[in-house]
Amino acid sequence: MKLFICKKSLLILVALIVFAGASAGIFAGVAGAWAHAGERTIVIDAGHGGVDAGVRGKISGEKESDINLSIAKHLKGYLSGAGFNAVMTRTTQGGLYGTSTKGFKMRDMKKRKQVIEESSADMVVSIHQNFCPLPSKRGSHVFFDKTSEAGKLLADSIQHSLNALNGADGNTSLAGDYYMLKCTQNPSVIVECGFLSNSEDERLLCTDEYRKNVAYAVFRGIVAYYS
Ligand SMILES: [Zn+2]
Repeated sequence: MKLFICKKSLLILVALIVFAGASAGIFAGVAGAWAHAGERTIVIDAGHGGVDAGVRGKISGEKESDINLSIAKHLKGYLSGAGFNAVMTRTTQGGLYGTSTKGFKMRDMKKRKQVIEESSADMVVSIHQNFCPLPSKRGSHVFFDKTSEAGKLLADSIQHSLNALNGADGNTSLAGDYYMLKCTQNPSVIVECGFLSNSEDERLLCTDEYRKNVAYAVFRGIVAYYS
């Protein structure tokens, strides 16, 4: 019994040392980013909105557009708190297309590009949720433009951070050819935070606590990229 207690105490001590070391590393990284954070504008794009709900939770019916907005707002909080100039493409549940007449999707995308250009974005992080016919598929995937080396570095950094959160270790960043990745020459990524077709991902993404955790993981990935 005593041995058990000693072992337990030792384990707690080791855990505390590891935690302290990890925290020091994280904060050193954040502090490094703070030094120039105010010079950096990061556009956070909450995907979809309005009549375009994106995909929906298979069980809950929760709209992707609302989950995206919630995570984007948390991410803005973390980035602003660290001194970055964080700009959001949308801050309400509505879309950016004006009226939902013909061509609304392209008007919506062009408006997002306009926000990116007018803010002279140094980085673009677009937040989305995924859906797959295979219900077992879960975890996040971060997409980068196939021609952007900096985009791949940023995507890898955020992917690494998200894998540590959701335990989907095998997930990798992926090259893509999407409009939102081509709005600036600066690094741009699309973060597919989880699969609304997977019951566990959906359950987690329907809680504000997990949305905060996802936003913080993305934030840490951004800070690690700049560090
Ligand atoms: Zn989407």
